[in-house]
Amino acid sequence: MKAFSEIIGQEKAIDFLKRVIGGDRIPHAYLFTGINGVGKSTTALALARTVNCTSDTTGDGCGRCITCRQLTSGNFPDIISIAPDGQNIKIEQIRELNRALNYKPVSGKYRITIIDRAEMMTEEAANSFLKTLEEPPPGNIIVLKVVDLRDLLPTIVSRCQRVPFNPLNRDTIKEYLVAHHNQDDNTAYLAAGIADGSLGKAIEICEEGFLDARRELIELILGLKDMPGKQAVELAFEYGKKYSKKTQDDQSDIDLHGVIGIWKTCLRDILLASVRGNYDMMENRDYRDRIAALAAKYDADKLIESFFLLEDCQRDLIRNPNSGLLMEKMLLELKTLNN
Ligand SMILES: [Zn+2]
Repeated sequence: MKAFSEIIGQEKAIDFLKRVIGGDRIPHAYLFTGINGVGKSTTALALARTVNCTSDTTGDGCGRCITCRQLTSGNFPDIISIAPDGQNIKIEQIRELNRALNYKPVSGKYRITIIDRAEMMTEEAANSFLKTLEEPPPGNIIVLKVVDLRDLLPTIVSRCQRVPFNPLNRDTIKEYLVAHHNQDDNTAYLAAGIADGSLGKAIEICEEGFLDARRELIELILGLKDMPGKQAVELAFEYGKKYSKKTQDDQSDIDLHGVIGIWKTCLRDILLASVRGNYDMMENRDYRDRIAALAAKYDADKLIESFFLLEDCQRDLIRNPNSGLLMEKMLLELKTLNN
């Protein structure tokens, strides 16, 4: 549980929130948009702290009053979290929520309801929520979270105050990992690059197992060019199978998107080494000598083509996040292309 002032990289969103909740008419429904792991939930809880703190003068919550302490220990009773029950947020969940919001908050001035993955509301559920969003019963603030607001019905979007959250920049993530997650500079820099703007993802990447997995993945991609075709086919099958099993709940390992992210950094490094002999900008500095030796064997045009092949695969994975088949196909194309 953090205060507004402790959240990193979202100054714009937080300044905006502080301004509107400091005004006369506090909006009661917010739509937080942005990729996962950039602080949307953390900010919703910080918002709960600011609007409920009983002795605050800074707009940040004092951290000492009973409400702040309840929030810090996770015992504040006036937080409701809604998430998809299976595939969807169902109409029954929203009906129950509508009923619950009619009661006064138990402890604080405001009850905060956080709706995770709001785009998963069925159309029925969304429609039964419209009236509540338009004018929630007094003492309620509702925060909807969504990655892309185009996934929501316009009738929902128009009833909410939109608050965009940016992807974080790489240095911000890197510094955070070094300061709070005991990472050395090099690992933090790599993890921040793979995480693509998501602090949450970067933290997952730094969990145990990442470094070993990364080593294995880099060995594979650096070895691909000189590998006999048959072995490449076997490895493609093996890796496709291995990484397609990862689920979203399994946070200790790299998912397919992350695997390809690592490979992209390798290709980029080979390209840098081959066209400019530029080693300062390398991502995988611990593989510098191997990469420099490999660079001479690669054709720059084909490397660029290979890089786009990986990008295409990452894009296809957005629709099929666990498709080992996509990875298999991509690896084989990569092998053929650079033979
Ligand atoms: Zn307080």
